[in-house]
Amino acid sequence: MGATGGGWGGELQGFEGELWEPGDAGFSGALRAAAAANAAVGGRRPALLARPRGVSDVRRCVRAARARARSGGFPAGAAPLSVRGGGHSELCLLDGALAVDLSWGLSWVECDPGSCVVRCGGGATLKALQEAAGEHGLACPVGLHDTVGVGLLLQGGVGRLSRQHGLAVDNVLGVQIVTATGDVLALGEGFSAEPGARSEGSRASQLLDDLWWCVRGAGPNFGVVTAVALRVFPVGPVLHGRVPWRMPRGDPLEAAAAALTRFEEAARQLPCDQQVDFILGTGAEGRPLGAFFPFSLEGRPFSGSAARAMGFTRESAGSPDGPAGALERGLFQSIPYPSLEGLVSKDAGAAQSGRGADSGGGGAGAGAQTKALAYVRQCFVDRLGAGGWQAILRAVLSAPSDMAEVMLQHAGGQVRARNATDLVFSPRSWEFSVVVVACWTEPSSQTRRANEAWANATFDSLRPFATGLYAADIDPVRRPAGAADEVLQAFQENLPRLLELKRLHDPDGLFRGACPLVPPGVDRGVPLKG
Ligand SMILES: Cc1cc2nc3c(=O)[nH]c(=O)nc-3n(C[C@H](O)[C@H](O)[C@H](O)COP(=O)(O)OP(=O)(O)OC[C@H]3O[C@@H](n4cnc5c(N)ncnc54)[C@H](O)[C@@H]3O)c2cc1C
Repeated sequence: MGATGGGWGGELQGFEGELWEPGDAGFSGALRAAAAANAAVGGRRPALLARPRGVSDVRRCVRAARARARSGGFPAGAAPLSVRGGGHSELCLLDGALAVDLSWGLSWVECDPGSCVVRCGGGATLKALQEAAGEHGLACPVGLHDTVGVGLLLQGGVGRLSRQHGLAVDNVLGVQIVTATGDVLALGEGFSAEPGARSEGSRASQLLDDLWWCVRGAGPNFGVVTAVALRVFPVGPVLHGRVPWRMPRGDPLEAAAAALTRFEEAARQLPCDQQVDFILGTGAEGRPLGAFFPFSLEGRPFSGSAARAMGFTRESAGSPDGPAGALERGLFQSIPYPSLEGLVSKDAGAAQSGRGADSGGGGAGAGAQTKALAYVRQCFVDRLGAGGWQAILRAVLSAPSDMAEVMLQHAGGQVRARNATDLVFSPRSWEFSVVVVACWTEPSSQTRRANEAWANATFDSLRPFATGLYAADIDPVRRPAGAADEVLQAFQENLPRLLELKRLHDPDGLFRGACPLVPPGVDRGVPLKG
């Protein structure tokens, strides 16, 4: 345990967890632990690092940051608070802020199999959630990479259950949240409010409804979420595959794009319990090399047309027996869902989760355990067609590193079932979340610039096909100038209401270090230095 928060005033009196200030003996170690999931934030210097033991400690942190912000105690423009859940984003640890690391004291998880609900603390990882649910044959509607944390539940959550059950935010049943005033509120179902925090009356109830709307898509902008209740689903054995794809030698780009367009059309026609993710990287001979990851939730084999579009035709698979033969030859496995989650983690470096680069993943051409740096651009796409596929193939052919990749996470289905204004998470008209991952190991700024420029150019070439952006992938640290435009593309028609509620619920800008809610026309990201 470090300092007692000297200079932070009475608001931190009684803090039961750990507090570290720069200069304390344990500060560097605590900082390293907070940056463990993302090397890119390892060099940050918060003013105070807090590891709360529970909700009361979180509340003390919020009140201390608010008091200091009101007395002008933070550098001009700096975010007063930063919050670490799973620690995968650029925003979990900010210079000059009171940094709250929830992964230490709020990582509890419990599963109620009777009601198909998992509850967890704000610092739990998705691995812990899935393990708790998996013991009862239940699956969590979360993302592909299980070291990610609650930031995903509060901002979107695209994963293997999305096509059949919607996004993670669609299945968040309730939260407990410490607001900018330091009140502990219960929103939705599953938690009770702190006595006295919830006043009666229709205005109070409207404020709670508004906050509940905001939390499901822009949660980090409205408070510290100390607990979440998530709906989970029974799953039996699932059918999962990995079908390699390589651009045929000598094939013109147009022909390869036409083949991938046929795959896209077949994927759109799949029933909601089946989906196909796709990853494309550069192969050793400079030919685009990738893999389809077909997944059947109910364990039903894929139809002939979908199977053909993925390329395991009798000819290309060298098999006289089509999809059934593919199952037998190990292109598909029938496995319990929890084993699949494990398989994803092991497989991360082999292109299943390119966004894992900072945490030891890597691209399609990389070794599984390469420690790499990454830069991500993302957009939601309804239809790529020949033009979109050509753009992706051209990008892969011109990638500055053989670790680069473009990943398509397939959803559609139940994601489309919600209206865009039901929750603050707005983009609904899309079939694929397209994630462009630049990935490299050589640390020079020239290499970094070349890789970032490649990802930005790839993103620009896909923009004509995009129907929205994912707020969780907005990076105001590395793209401050574009933040306002990205926020508009993420929240779309919900942005005016969101900005109004942000002003109302966080007037001191305590949570402005989260995804920047910048009004259109303002070029401003998160200031990191004072
Ligand atoms: C390897 C990898 C794989 C990914 N795969 C997917 C995927 O399959 N599907 C998908 O939808 N997304 C995916 N993402 C994106 C991911 O959802 C976001 O990066 C998400 O923000 C990470 O949340 P975190 O809690 O791990 O990170 P953090 O950096 O800790 O948090 C992200 C943001 O949420 C805030 N936050 C976190 N916890 C809380 C809390 N309890 N209360 C208030 N604010 C909080 C933080 O302050 C920060 O602003 C992936 C990202 C990575 C790095």
